[in-house]
Amino acid sequence: MSRRAIHRALGIAFCLTICMALALAVSLSAGSSCAAAIAELFGRPPANSITFWGHACFYIDIDGYGIVTDPAFGDRLFLRWRRVPAPPRSSYGRARLILISHAHPDHLDLDTIAIFPGGVTILCPEPAAGLISERGIDAKVMRPGDSFEYPGGKVVAVVAKHAGSRYGVRSLTDGSALGFVIYTPYSTVYYSGDTNLFEGLDDVGRVHAPDIAILNISGHLHGKDAVEAARRVGAGTIIPSHFGAYGHLFWPEQKLPREYDEMLEGLGETMVLLHLGESLYLDPESND
Ligand SMILES: [Zn+2]
Repeated sequence: MSRRAIHRALGIAFCLTICMALALAVSLSAGSSCAAAIAELFGRPPANSITFWGHACFYIDIDGYGIVTDPAFGDRLFLRWRRVPAPPRSSYGRARLILISHAHPDHLDLDTIAIFPGGVTILCPEPAAGLISERGIDAKVMRPGDSFEYPGGKVVAVVAKHAGSRYGVRSLTDGSALGFVIYTPYSTVYYSGDTNLFEGLDDVGRVHAPDIAILNISGHLHGKDAVEAARRVGAGTIIPSHFGAYGHLFWPEQKLPREYDEMLEGLGETMVLLHLGESLYLDPESND
């Protein structure tokens, strides 16, 4: 069975599990039982893997060290509302690093980062850092090219073409919005944050040669742009983000990336669609 077929089968099985778990949760009147069903839904992320938690949030485990991208678990964000449960705190108890790509509300949710374990380090660009510090939380400002070492490797900030301010709409390449390259002992992961197609993606491919690229495919890189972005980055595995948790004012049910069929045709076996709670191992051999 091909990897895509395996993932599709896992996806179907997972969706059925979600339906059963949610039906079970609804049927249970006690709040603690509902919480148990949600915990079962998410569980603890597997070791040395990337787990999708909806929209732009991924939990990356590297030998027990947890890195979380853009966590936003609120019921309602600007023009969006969450349609699935949020991960329980037990799922991210081992989080040690939070990567905030920019300050848009669906990537920086101050209420969410406030509930992460004490001692977690937050890396983010300047505009986001200002908002976080107003909340009384420390954050380390990153600029393109800056790196941060962690026990399993390092995280390098790269430029994104996107607005970095809270409600900005102009796509800039001034470092106010970032992507991150995460070096691990098993593979190198590029997390794009939000970005349009631009020449900086060629630099990511040439300088960092990521094995796995998490691209904001439903955000700004849908269709042909997504296929071209994947080509420029050059990763052998492309994971779409920006779908699966929140309904949108204009796309109330966004369970698959937009223009999914076109991307599937263009990206072929390189695209690995993770449904909510699904994981991909960092070591390719573990996925066989
Ligand atoms: Zn954005």
